[in-house]
Amino acid sequence: AESGRVRVAIRLRPKNTEEILSDADFFDCVEPQPELKKLKLKKNNWSSESYRFDEVFTESASQKRVYEAVAKPVVEGVLNGYNGTIMAYGQTGTGKTYTLGKLGKDDASERGIMVRALEDIISGASSPSDSIEISYLQIYMESVQDLLAPEKVNIPIVEDPKNGEVTVPGAAVVNIQNVDHFLQVLQIGEANRHAANTKMNTESSRSHAILMVSLRRSVNDKEENSTSFQGKDDRSVLVGGHVIPTVRKSKLLIVDLAGSERLDKSGSEGHLVEETKFINLSLSSLGKCINALAENSPHIPTRDSKLTRLLRDSFGGSARTSLIVTIGPSSRHHTETASTIMFGQRAMKVVNFVKLKEEFDY
Ligand code: ADP
Repeated sequence: AESGRVRVAIRLRPKNTEEILSDADFFDCVEPQPELKKLKLKKNNWSSESYRFDEVFTESASQKRVYEAVAKPVVEGVLNGYNGTIMAYGQTGTGKTYTLGKLGKDDASERGIMVRALEDIISGASSPSDSIEISYLQIYMESVQDLLAPEKVNIPIVEDPKNGEVTVPGAAVVNIQNVDHFLQVLQIGEANRHAANTKMNTESSRSHAILMVSLRRSVNDKEENSTSFQGKDDRSVLVGGHVIPTVRKSKLLIVDLAGSERLDKSGSEGHLVEETKFINLSLSSLGKCINALAENSPHIPTRDSKLTRLLRDSFGGSARTSLIVTIGPSSRHHTETASTIMFGQRAMKVVNFVKLKEEFDY
């Protein structure tokens, strides 16, 4: 089996108007060095620390560059039968949704990772027997909600005891035909996310949004069956002289995580610890799983929260994973930025052992 760790990229967003105007009170506390794949975090003019990432994106990095460096290898894995996860982690307002979910309806160059991933999956899986299905979910206060069918709440997450496959059978599933169709569905999901959060009187920054893309490809009529997979992983079987086609299933999860700032607050204000943990149990549990994976612990505590249960077969173990941590430039948020960087640094140590997932379709 192939192996590789979680790829971790850091992306700095451009200054916003407020930051440009309040220039006098704060300074730029980060300095990306993309050629060195390092990011310098400055405490003040005299002291700074440097951190290494797999990719470092300055405020002028394009959506296309970010996609190609961070997401494309995961998407290619999914087209070849591997599960994959792309996540964005960072303080609210640092560009998680811009990076992942931007629709770019007027300007295709602005499209984020979700749309670009679907473009590549749709063109890569173009055989009539291939199918691309999506579900779009939100986890808020440990309740799984359906962003495509908002009346569905508390949807159970199911794990197949035989192969460990994680599914959400109660969620709405849309069979995606083309990119325009996907854009329409994603826009409905976004509108529902906004409406649900308004109704619950919460901000979307407290919930995790998860796009689940399930791909089924029948391998036998594919050219790659006789090339790249031959010998190694071709498991088509001969029954009575007939070749039974193999269906290869894979899954891509694109996860727009809740704002990381609540974790920081739990650290600084003792009495809020419990409340904050409950609001963001999934986020702290993800952090624990990343630490456990980084330490090569035999026990990864994925059952502690809804998010990590959903990620169980797509993160660590048999999947390719990319994490994009997003930060802003201003020293006003030095503490949050530092803690986001440390989360990314821990994730850099995670080793994934990637297995090819395949099943027979009799
Ligand atoms: P988050 O999802 O982390 O809360 P958003 O994606 O909503 O943050 O970004 C906050 C604001 O900053 C939005 O107006 C967004 O368009 C803008 N923004 C974020 N990243 C970039 C970027 N790389 N280039 C241009 N604008 C950006």
